Amino acid sequence: MAFEGLSERLQAVLGKLRGKGKVTEADVKAAMREVRLALLEADVNFKVVKEFIDRVRERAVGQEVLKSLTPGQQVIKVVNEELTRLMGGEQSKLTFSPSPPTVIMMVGLQGAGKTTTAGKLALHLKKQNRRPMLVAGDVYRPAAIRQLEVLGQQIDVPVFSLGDKESPVRIAEEGVKRAREEGCDTVLIDTAGRLHVDDAMMEELASIKESVNPREILLVVDAMTGQDAVNVAEQFHNRLGLTGVVLTKLDGDTRGGAALSVRAVTGCPIKFVGTGEKMNALEPFHPDRMASRILG
Ligand code: GDP
Repeated sequence: MAFEGLSERLQAVLGKLRGKGKVTEADVKAAMREVRLALLEADVNFKVVKEFIDRVRERAVGQEVLKSLTPGQQVIKVVNEELTRLMGGEQSKLTFSPSPPTVIMMVGLQGAGKTTTAGKLALHLKKQNRRPMLVAGDVYRPAAIRQLEVLGQQIDVPVFSLGDKESPVRIAEEGVKRAREEGCDTVLIDTAGRLHVDDAMMEELASIKESVNPREILLVVDAMTGQDAVNVAEQFHNRLGLTGVVLTKLDGDTRGGAALSVRAVTGCPIKFVGTGEKMNALEPFHPDRMASRILG
């Protein structure tokens, strides 16, 4: 399970404070040293950890916390609030164009879960009574188009494809046109990923962006890759201006670093998390619920 190590350690440290009738500044400082180590070991970005600890410490040693009737609980509340804030505070929802179709571009490195997530998101939208269309724009990974077609059939969502001989820009443009003709209100464009961020990939994505003017550009990143996921997000965001991140494989035993750092490092909100291989394993991301889950 994701965050297991982090969760256990935070609960152990904070549990010691919980029942205390009196908490001193020294107690808070000692606890924060342990929280700091736990976060670093969970692969949370170094600067993010520092800022987090500074904020918590500053708030927690305040008079209203330490002099309250339940100081231990108040400190835990501060940690919870700051953890929520770190992950973006409020839930960040998808936005839709006033004049349909809304175009959503899915980007990411190969293997991150882009194609799968495109399918999951289409199903999610369908359940909200929207009419999505999937567009197969990943022309380089041999099985990607077929994979998307199979997913489309499974969830009963139309898939637009022009095979792998056309340019991704043309596929995207034609896909949006087709969606309009067929009365689909949301177009999800699957794009090609590479093993690493490279210029050719970014150029191509930038061209697609320019030609179809997406409302959302969602980066799909694998939570298991920790700080690499954060670096990838930063590079994509700088080049393309992402509107959101989808963190996949949160059902695995990720230490949590990516989930806790991506927003703070890039400024880009996590909108969804992937929690399995099945089409219904996608959840909107709620920073407050995630914080509570981590703190137990
Ligand atoms: P793409 O290359 O980015 O399009 O990646 P795919 O969509 O083909 O996904 C790569 C692998 O990751 C596949 O085996 C997916 O089933 C798997 N996958 C995607 N999302 C998740 C997730 O949230 N949890 C788990 N456990 N596996 C996932």
